[in-house]
Amino acid sequence: MADQGYDVIVVGARCAGSPVAMLLARKGYRTLLVDRATFPSDTVSTHLIHPPGVASLQRWGLLDRLTATGCPPIGKYTFDFGPLTLGGAPGTDDSPFAYAPRRTVLDKLLVDAAAEAGAEVREAFTVEEILVEDGQVTGIRGHAVGGSAVVERARVVVGADGRNSVVAKAVRPGQYHERPPLTCGYYSYWSNLPVHGTFEIYSRPGRGWAACPTHDDLTMVVGGWSYAELAEHRDDIEGTLLSAFEAAPEFAERIRGATREERFVGTSVPNYFRTPFGPGWALVGDAGYNRDFITAQGITDAFRDAELCAGALDDALAGNRPYDEALGEYQAARDGQVLPMYEMTAQIAALQPPDAQMIQLVTALQSNQELMDAFARVNSGATSPAEFFAPDNVGRILGQT
Ligand SMILES: Cc1cc2nc3c(=O)[nH]c(=O)nc-3n(C[C@H](O)[C@H](O)[C@H](O)COP(=O)(O)OP(=O)(O)OC[C@H]3O[C@@H](n4cnc5c(N)ncnc54)[C@H](O)[C@@H]3O)c2cc1C
Repeated sequence: MADQGYDVIVVGARCAGSPVAMLLARKGYRTLLVDRATFPSDTVSTHLIHPPGVASLQRWGLLDRLTATGCPPIGKYTFDFGPLTLGGAPGTDDSPFAYAPRRTVLDKLLVDAAAEAGAEVREAFTVEEILVEDGQVTGIRGHAVGGSAVVERARVVVGADGRNSVVAKAVRPGQYHERPPLTCGYYSYWSNLPVHGTFEIYSRPGRGWAACPTHDDLTMVVGGWSYAELAEHRDDIEGTLLSAFEAAPEFAERIRGATREERFVGTSVPNYFRTPFGPGWALVGDAGYNRDFITAQGITDAFRDAELCAGALDDALAGNRPYDEALGEYQAARDGQVLPMYEMTAQIAALQPPDAQMIQLVTALQSNQELMDAFARVNSGATSPAEFFAPDNVGRILGQT
């Protein structure tokens, strides 16, 4: 890694890029953070941050700033399967709450924290090209709005630029565990739909939806169906959602009495892992790994990647460890931590009725608060699905009833 203008250039300044830039700038690295967007600005994403993601904010000293914005804490997840409903606490003693901050608020807070740490931030700056010399990424070419092209060089370019990453397109990383889009999801915001600090999840064959509190006394409701039905319902999102809600009459009645305050937004996403590093480049967040949004893990995953990747880059740039070894460990840690949730997400996104074993399991959880808390922690990512669904653990749960 030759000495260049910056130590690190980070492309993309939302929940993956800003934390990477912040963490590296705090270590004293010359860091440039660019995004074609300006902040505050919205992006197509609902915004539940599970307690493990909230723990990252806490570690970085940013949780107090988030709570100061008036974002309500979420201390309970409920799972309404139709015949039965479970309810449990998704967090741990150290990080008991989830939050669902608007991205306009969260992403701005993160960009500001990166700038405060000493990263140079350029908003409204579009990266057009990733510079590669002899197989090594050496910098970027881009432009500010209305400006002419400029070149910036760095020892490492980090792609935190989302699913359509310009960095990934340039370096063509290997992709693995790929799956096509599984669901399509649409969301909006309602007033007069109180959910009392709860993330409500509803599961019906072929349909799923959820509601959680966010800023300004609004409740975000997101719902969806199989990707195979995308074209069939594209022209009547609201009607399709409202008819799905009828399968949960109490919820249908509550939302009928509420007011939708914003338009519907939605999309579908592919599922993949990308090799997240190579000579002079690294990928974090959706640029490196993506899963269906039905388990709401993306922001929490982006925070985890940011911390792992920044730690690995620090090791490599400081000369403590070889680059490939440090970054290889980032990849191994990421993959090891997310694979069980990736598989669980694909299963949930199939929107199939539960099989006999699942019915037996959730029936066994019902009315045992400790077990329902454990189930909520699996869905929040605080406990790995590999641990919870291990045959021994399932056997223990079934044996308790
Ligand atoms: C419908 C939907 C619902 C979701 N719900 C949740 C949820 O409830 N909870 C959750 O945790 N996750 C959710 N996710 C996932 C979550 O949105 C993503 O995982 C998360 O936003 C990834 O963050 P990121 O920083 O990697 O990428 P992004 O948020 O996509 O940010 C990438 C940034 O890169 C910038 N950029 C891209 N190209 C360039 C370029 N050439 N030059 C300069 N800048 C560039 C973009 O402007 C953008 O600001 C949802 C996703 C969708 C689609």
